[in-house]
Amino acid sequence: MSASPKPDEGCELCRTDGGEVLWQDEFLRVVLVDEPGFPGFSRVILADHFAEMTDLDGGQRQRLLEAVWHVERAMRATLAPAKINLASLGNQVPHLHWHIIPRWRDDSHFPASVWAAPRPSASGPGAGALAALGALVRYRAAIRAAFATDRGR
Ligand SMILES: [Zn+2]
Repeated sequence: MSASPKPDEGCELCRTDGGEVLWQDEFLRVVLVDEPGFPGFSRVILADHFAEMTDLDGGQRQRLLEAVWHVERAMRATLAPAKINLASLGNQVPHLHWHIIPRWRDDSHFPASVWAAPRPSASGPGAGALAALGALVRYRAAIRAAFATDRGR
């Protein structure tokens, strides 16, 4: 891995995990984020400070994206969302990270982005999100299984 800055005490993602850690190694971690209405909302966060995908070498980029695909697969298999949104914004923290966001047709923002204004008619989680809430134990297990299998490479 190329040189990167030392952990920064002023950086939220150096000081905290940024969610419930489902899996981690020295390069990245997968966290489950507490976002009411979007059970399963997860992030893949690089351990070190990198701002852009092109700051990574080819192997690092592949490793990061493989992790995103693992999360997406586990999410599809266990939470049955209507769609999965992938996003990399990173405007506020110096850790390159991907959001993996399960979406349901009756969620509070569908079909707009989760960062848009909610639908005026939205009231609490819909049936899809409620079912997913009950499937989070299976989702956590699927993430662990996917990365455990991957580890030997
Ligand atoms: Zn940091």
